[in-house]
Amino acid sequence: MDALIGVPADELEHIRRLVPSLQNSGLVADAAEFPAEAIRRLAEAGALTAPLPIASGGLGLGTERHRGRVLLDFLHLLGQASLPLGRLVEAHVNALRIVARYGNTAQQTVVSAAVRDGALFALWVTDPPGDGGLSMVAGDARLALTGGKMFCSGAGFASHAVVTAADVARGETRLLLVDLGGLEHASPLPASLAGMKAAVTGQVDFTGVTLGVDRVIGDPGDYLREPDFSAGAWRSSAVALGGLHRLLDLLRLQLIGRGRQDDPHQRARFGQALIGHEAGWLLLEQAGTMAEDLEADSARIVSAVGLARIAVERACLDGIELMQRSLGIGAFLTGNPVERVARDLQTYLRQPAADEVLHNAAGYFMVNGLPAA
Ligand SMILES: Cc1cc2nc3c(=O)[nH]c(=O)nc-3n(C[C@H](O)[C@H](O)[C@H](O)COP(=O)(O)OP(=O)(O)OC[C@H]3O[C@@H](n4cnc5c(N)ncnc54)[C@H](O)[C@@H]3O)c2cc1C
Repeated sequence: MDALIGVPADELEHIRRLVPSLQNSGLVADAAEFPAEAIRRLAEAGALTAPLPIASGGLGLGTERHRGRVLLDFLHLLGQASLPLGRLVEAHVNALRIVARYGNTAQQTVVSAAVRDGALFALWVTDPPGDGGLSMVAGDARLALTGGKMFCSGAGFASHAVVTAADVARGETRLLLVDLGGLEHASPLPASLAGMKAAVTGQVDFTGVTLGVDRVIGDPGDYLREPDFSAGAWRSSAVALGGLHRLLDLLRLQLIGRGRQDDPHQRARFGQALIGHEAGWLLLEQAGTMAEDLEADSARIVSAVGLARIAVERACLDGIELMQRSLGIGAFLTGNPVERVARDLQTYLRQPAADEVLHNAAGYFMVNGLPAA
């Protein structure tokens, strides 16, 4: 339907309408079971094509500039629906962004067609400790892969992946586009995660897989290129903040359900948690817009995102604590949805190198002056 005059159309209307049914459907298990039906419904609502460039049939979320505000709304909605679902779609957005930023036209065409056909992309960049990381040997026409990746969301279920691989002979790291469902072997982590189970985060061994050389994306070092490498963290924060929103909504309803909504201590805690959420949203709106617009200086973008990421982590951890104080032991009953959302959120918040992110962001603003008001 056309927008009313002066009122922008809600590009996310179908996804927004789906959120309550996903929250209450039981389609996302608290177990390592891939949420295939929930992903199917999200695909039907346009969530998997939304990251494609507009010319390829998408909304340009993550792949075009000046779409940061809508992308924040999108990822926050997914986090409200389910953190594991949000994680799976966030990875899909991140993978498609890499293809849009660094891939060639042929790769972008193939990927867009696959996504329009329902493909779910993963992004697997974490190597296992020790020597087992993914490496490649490049021949004239094909690449031979050895080793694997760890903490792979959607392992065994994603249809395609963007992965990093070490080209040991050249001392470089390359990005590869992989069609999954071939010779690679997905298995659970040696010990399972306490939360986020439905994101099916496992390990994948690519030993024996070969790929055409046309599957190499971009130039050596593209994956680590700033500001994208560090600033991409804002997208995972956006999903996490959606999880906090869900937690606070559940808290609100449970306090009302117990007739405790007028108690001044309960209100103070609820207000504090809400301040954390609202402040996190504003910071992410600002930093996410910078990260998607790519107009500011690279170090400034990375530092703004770093501060926002740490603020959102703090808001989520404080929100969990305040919710637990407010509901008491009820917050720890396994049938209570707040228990699971809190556990998923605590797990999902473990993103790399938190100390370094704050150290670098603080250092940037120490030397260059405070962010503009
Ligand atoms: C649910 C979930 C899904 C995931 N899915 C994917 C996926 O699909 N693909 C993928 O590639 N990865 C994935 N990951 C992995 C993720 O990207 C991170 O690699 C992982 O979560 C790192 O967490 P960490 O807290 O151990 O990080 P670390 O960086 O090890 O941080 C742990 C602590 O150590 C500190 N620290 C870090 N480095 C040092 C150092 N050198 N010296 C001293 N202290 C240090 C940090 O500041 C922090 O306090 C997933 C993780 C989760 C939780």
